[in-house]
Amino acid sequence: MIEGSCLCGAVRFAIRGGMSGIVVCHCSMCRKAAGGAAGAFFVARRDEVAWTGEEYLTSYKSSPELVRAFCSRCGSAMTGANLVEPDETIILAANALDGSVAAPVVAHEHVASKTSWEDNDDAPHFDGPYPSWENLRQ
Ligand SMILES: [Zn+2]
Ligand SMILES: [Zn+2]
Repeated sequence: MIEGSCLCGAVRFAIRGGMSGIVVCHCSMCRKAAGGAAGAFFVARRDEVAWTGEEYLTSYKSSPELVRAFCSRCGSAMTGANLVEPDETIILAANALDGSVAAPVVAHEHVASKTSWEDNDDAPHFDGPYPSWENLRQ
């Protein structure tokens, strides 16, 4: 069972079937919706997705034919941009997935819209928190 949840836990999805590979989108809309350097998404069959706390889902039409759903309590993106007229599939937010998932990243799209700060990133990586936050606050 593949499961996902929002940050506050009010909204959850569980997928009975399989999931597609993950596409990472660097466009400005996905960045803003995901609150990160990129959005990450996968596809599942709509009839194989069971929602909990669906009443907390709010949607936003980011373009005339596309709608994105997020948790109204904590703001977590729960879907990608889906057609307003739903088909049998749904694009879900990989950022919401819980646990480890075997699905590979299959593509990065809209890399032409990547942030300038992501392009200039040679910064060190830390397994835990950045130890020098205090230095940034001075
Ligand atoms: Zn939430
Ligand atoms: Zn995008």
